[in-house]
Amino acid sequence: MTAQLLSGRALAKTMKEALAVQVAALRAGGVAPTLAVLRLGDDKAAAGYARAIEKNCASVGVDFRAEVMDVDVTQAAAAAALQKLNDDANVHGIMILEPAPSQINMDSLVMQLKPEKDIDGVHPVNAGRLAAQRAPYFVPATPAGGIRLLEEAGVEFKGKNAVVVGRSDIVGKPMAMLLLHRHCTVTIAHSRTVDLPSLCRRADILCVAVGRPEMVTGEWIKPGAIVVDFGTTYTADGLKGDCEQESVAAVAGMLTPVPGGTGPVTNVMLMSNLLEAVTKGKN
Ligand code: NDP
Repeated sequence: MTAQLLSGRALAKTMKEALAVQVAALRAGGVAPTLAVLRLGDDKAAAGYARAIEKNCASVGVDFRAEVMDVDVTQAAAAAALQKLNDDANVHGIMILEPAPSQINMDSLVMQLKPEKDIDGVHPVNAGRLAAQRAPYFVPATPAGGIRLLEEAGVEFKGKNAVVVGRSDIVGKPMAMLLLHRHCTVTIAHSRTVDLPSLCRRADILCVAVGRPEMVTGEWIKPGAIVVDFGTTYTADGLKGDCEQESVAAVAGMLTPVPGGTGPVTNVMLMSNLLEAVTKGKN
């Protein structure tokens, strides 16, 4: 079998076009959708992520604002900067970029973030609403994008055995919740899981969000399984997912490639969340 590759680039392009039309309509009505990032210190990865978000915003016509604080920023100053964004009616979505300097208590900042502006769904109110299946304000963009890719491909979820490898709050856990709400039987695996390959081989839908390049090989895959690879690791050989693409694609029925799978859709889902923040009057 050779897996059908689920292109995130193609889906992202279509979604972006629709979002750009929505943004133009909002602007014509006098609203400039605005995403703000709070960046604490001079971490290169956070700076790179901020640039990527800015580009993503520009691609659909969303305004981008960055609050950049010195590396020796105090907790009080970071909290004050965040509060200003919370209170600013012209800011519709906020992201606090990580990593932050060691003196910063991120948990405390996340708790302070207004859930209605938490477009990446990191506030416990949003995580709790998702877990309790009460319409969350926002679902984290990466798993929301993974589900969107599967839905676009016409995947039937009901009754499927789903295995999610990785239990982070931003990818693994919310992905497991989204699959559960679609009536999959869900197992969450992690670094202490015993005999991971056997567990994965039982999965009709396998989602991997670990960050270990090419950890999953074709031998771990049930023939015909649907595989969502969230992994993105920069290696000497370029960007790699958590799946060894060639061997997995030889066994799976569907596979999200890396690059070009879940990554591009994550970006668009973030913009989609931002527009929801504006259009549903969540501010
Ligand atoms: P985290 O580091 O927060 O979580 C990694 C998870 O993998 C943990 O739950 C960990 O288990 C588990 N894990 C680690 N090693 C193993 C192992 N050997 N076997 C099984 N499980 C293991 O990462 P994130 O969830 O933030 O990100 C995961 C990947 O997804 C990364 O590559 C990241 O770059 C990528 N990512 C991609 C995005 C996209 O748009 N496609 C967006 C966000 C992230 P334990 O809990 O026991 O430590």
